[in-house]
Amino acid sequence: MFGEPAVSPPPPINPQDVVLEISPEIVQLFFLVFCAWGMVILFEIDVIRRKIVGNFNFGELGSVQPVSEESGWSNSSTVKSEATSTLANPVTVEKISAVYPKAVTNEVLVSRVSSALEKYGFGEKTLFTSSLCCDEVNRQLEIDFSKVYGQHFSMGGLAGFAFGGVTSFGAMAHHIPTGGDCVIVYGPHVGIDSDGMVGKVNRRGRKGSGTCCGSAVAACGYVKAVREGKQEASPPCTSALDAQQTFVGNMLLPFGKRLEDADNAMVELPLSLFEAQNALMQQIVAAGCGEVGGDGKIALLGGVQINTPEGTPDYFLPLNFEVRDNKGRLIQQLLW
Ligand SMILES: [Zn+2]
Repeated sequence: MFGEPAVSPPPPINPQDVVLEISPEIVQLFFLVFCAWGMVILFEIDVIRRKIVGNFNFGELGSVQPVSEESGWSNSSTVKSEATSTLANPVTVEKISAVYPKAVTNEVLVSRVSSALEKYGFGEKTLFTSSLCCDEVNRQLEIDFSKVYGQHFSMGGLAGFAFGGVTSFGAMAHHIPTGGDCVIVYGPHVGIDSDGMVGKVNRRGRKGSGTCCGSAVAACGYVKAVREGKQEASPPCTSALDAQQTFVGNMLLPFGKRLEDADNAMVELPLSLFEAQNALMQQIVAAGCGEVGGDGKIALLGGVQINTPEGTPDYFLPLNFEVRDNKGRLIQQLLW
C-alpha cells in the first residue's frame, strides 16, 4: 500500500465485443478435416451408386455367348462392364431383362455385329442400310452404326416395314462403293418407360410417357376391332394418304390370335410385327439381290429395337443375323 503504483482495474468486457482469436494452424487443421470428410462422403456415394446399378441383371442382358469361335463376339465380361458403366434406369433395365432377355445394348450390338462381319470383308466399303420406323426415337441406332459404316440408306416406313420395297433396295445396291457390301438393319420397335411399362416411352420435353410404337399400337387396335367384328378389314389402298398405316394393320391381321393369347400383347406385338417384316425383307432381298455388284454380300440383321428413357441406353433384340451372296444364297447364319 506504500509506494506501489496504483493499478487501474481492466475495463469491463462487453460480451458483444468478444472476438475469437484463431491461429492459422487451427484454420489449416479445420480445412484438412473438412476436405477428408468431403472425400469420405463422395466415396460412399459412389459405393451406393455401384450397389444400385450392380443389383440389376445386366449380366443376363449382356452375357450372351457366341455361337462359335468364328462369330467373333466380344467376351461377356466386356459386355457386362459396358452395360454397368451407364447410369441406367433400373426399372426399365429390369423389365427388358424380364421380357426380352436376349436383348443387348446398342453399343454391344454394334461391336458384335461389326466384328463378326469384318471376317466376311465388311468395313470401309460397306453401305449401312436401315428399315426402321419413322419415329425419331429410332434414329439413335442408325447414329450408333454410322460410327462404323458412315451415313445410312433408309428403306423403312411406319412401324419399320421396308415400304421402300424392291426399288429402294435396288437403288441402295447401286450406291454401294465398288467392291463393297451392304448391311441392312431392320425391324419394329417398342418403348419401355421409366415405370417399366411396355409399349410406352418417355419423350423429350413431355410429361409422363406416351405410346411407342404408335403405328404398331394403332394397328393392334385395328386388328382387335376387326376380329371382334366392330370394324371391317380395310380394302387395298387406292390412295397414298394413309397407305402405310393401312398396310401395317392388314399385315398384322394374321397375328391376331397370337396377340389375343399373349400374356402381354404389348410384349408380343413387336415379335409378331418382326415376323411380318422379316418375310417382306426376305422377299425384297430375293428379288433385288442381283443388283449388288461384283461379289458383294448382303448382311441382314433383324430384330426389335427397344427404346428407353433418357440416360438409359437403347437395346436391340436380335432375331435374325445372316450373310447372303448376291444370288440370294445363304453364306452364314450368325445369330447368337
Ligand atoms: Zn414407330
